[in-house]
Amino acid sequence: SDVGSQKDRVVTEEEWLRKWEMGNTGFHKERGHPLLQKYLDLLLNGRSGLRIFFPLCGKAVEMKWLADMGHSVVGVEVSEQALKEFFAEHSLPYCEEPVPEIPGAKKLQSTSGNISLYCCSIYDLSSSIVGKFDGFWDRGALVAVNPCDRQRYVSLMITLMEKNSSYLLVTVSYDPNKHKGPPFYVPESEIKSLYG
Ligand code: SAH
Repeated sequence: SDVGSQKDRVVTEEEWLRKWEMGNTGFHKERGHPLLQKYLDLLLNGRSGLRIFFPLCGKAVEMKWLADMGHSVVGVEVSEQALKEFFAEHSLPYCEEPVPEIPGAKKLQSTSGNISLYCCSIYDLSSSIVGKFDGFWDRGALVAVNPCDRQRYVSLMITLMEKNSSYLLVTVSYDPNKHKGPPFYVPESEIKSLYG
């Protein structure tokens, strides 16, 4: 398919912040994503106490699901409003601290300690800051990344992968000439070449 119409499109961080301020967050799923339930066994693969990463996490309720199952969840999101809404909507107490390695960034951590959400750009993170992960839930993340940043995004994800990690990726399939995105259309062939 022709993805030419989307390849130069850029959504800035300010635009994302404004979406949160205006409540233009139609991507948020109040009841969580059915595909995580469906493929949960593939993500966990019989393992317990995993470290699970949520890139571009918004206020995804799946973070609460996995934490409640005993896993340790790390997310990253530019909108502090989204992260505060996450803790408030689940009545989770949290504390805030600066991230010494990233000027201006904050880490919001549940008091129970098993949910740590970084308020910064995904591109500010590295494995020396957040460590590596056993599982990834990539929904509304690769497809939200600007097409020009896809390679950089995926290269970063690969550096965050623990040996034997599993990565669940949700994409959307549609005619990219009819909708400007996000979510962007990422053809399967491109996913294969990006992740190898
Ligand atoms: N994964 C979430 C949110 C999807 S929408 C869900 O399933 O509901 C994409 C989110 O990425 C938005 O909340 C936006 O604010 C955030 N975002 C966009 N660019 C980002 C970046 N460079 N770093 C971190 N978060 C970003």
